Order: sequence, then structure tokens, then C-alpha cells
Amino acid sequence: MNTIKLKDLTFKPYISSAEIATAVKNVAARINEDLADKNPLFICVLNGAFVFAADLFREINIPGAEITFIRMKSYIGTQSTGEVQMVSGLYEDISGRTVVIIEDIVDSGFTLLQLKEMLRECNPADIKVATLLFKPESLKCDVTIDYVALDIPPAFIVGYGLDYENMGRNLKDIYTIVQD
Ligand code: 5GP
Ligand code: MG
Repeated sequence: MNTIKLKDLTFKPYISSAEIATAVKNVAARINEDLADKNPLFICVLNGAFVFAADLFREINIPGAEITFIRMKSYIGTQSTGEVQMVSGLYEDISGRTVVIIEDIVDSGFTLLQLKEMLRECNPADIKVATLLFKPESLKCDVTIDYVALDIPPAFIVGYGLDYENMGRNLKDIYTIVQD
């Protein structure tokens, strides 16, 4: 098997770039239909979501769709800390607008919950959420996710923007951790 090593951990191929591309197109098609007349502002949550956001946004055909970027951090190594920091903020006026959060992965859900609370204070018309990956078994809070490209089990994954200690983001496929 084509395993890879990032620092102390070994990963094996898990979701191919072709499967990812299909899943991203499916999510984009749903968003195109649901938000056709909403002039949506997409908010890409850096760092992990940048690859997904780039692919998703190019499949969006809504005239006037916009994208911006914020930066959040909650993971140290392979563990969610539960404490979420916004490292770099939002400069756009989102009041009265439909915003679509673009996340790489929803695990415990705390990052998303806190981000939604922060955004709600700015009075958007609506907050939608699109995530590449969702770990339903890991969810620890009540947060609505509108668009999920792929459901996965709780194991730690890397690739397609997602990192282990900042490495592995450049992998075209998604890899899952090999337990030893
Ligand atoms: P949550 O707050 O939902 O527990 O975690 C959300 C964030 O943790 C994600 O946006 C992502 O940055 C990181 N994360 C969660 N699960 C994984 C994973 O399996 N691999 C990687 N690389 N990051 C993850
Ligand atoms: Mg993230």
C-alpha cells in the first residue's frame, strides 16, 4: 500500500481525488440551486478549507457570488482542543447577507458553533454551512450543517488542505491514519 509518513505518523490512501471532485460538484449543485437568488458571500475558514473552497467556488455559478477568508484554530496535533481562536477576522459587512461558511471538516462541532455565534452578532440574513467532511460520530454539540460533501468515521485524516502539524495539505487524495 502507498502509505506516507508525516513526522511520527503513518497514513494510508482513503478518499481519491476523483471521489472528492464528484462530492464537491454535488454540493456545489445543491448550493447553486438553493441560493441562486441570494448573492451569497462564501466565508472560507483557513487554513484547512482553502483547497476545498477553491474547488467548490469554481463550481458555483451564482452571478455575484463572493468569497472571503477568516482564520480559526482549534487543533493541536491530532486532538481538538475545544477552545477555538479566531486568528484573523472578517472585514466585510455581512449584515442582511446570506453567508456560506466553507469548512474543511466538522469534528466536535465547537469551531463551527462558535463561528456561527460570532457571525450572528453581525446580523447576516442567513448563515449556511458547507463542509467537505463530517464526522457524525464525533459531534458534541447541536449545530446545523447544511451541506456535507462526505461523511467519514472519527479517525484522523490529512490531505486536500487538511494537515498534520502543517504537513500534508498538498496531498491530492485524502489519507487516514494507520494505527499501530
Ligand atoms: P471541531 O471544532 O469540529 O472539533 O474541529 C474542527 C477543526 O478541527 C477543523 O476545521 C479542522 O481544522 C480540525 N480537524 C478536525 N478533524 C480533523 C482531522 O481528522 N484531520 C485534520 N487534519 N484536521 C481536523
Ligand atoms: Mg478547519
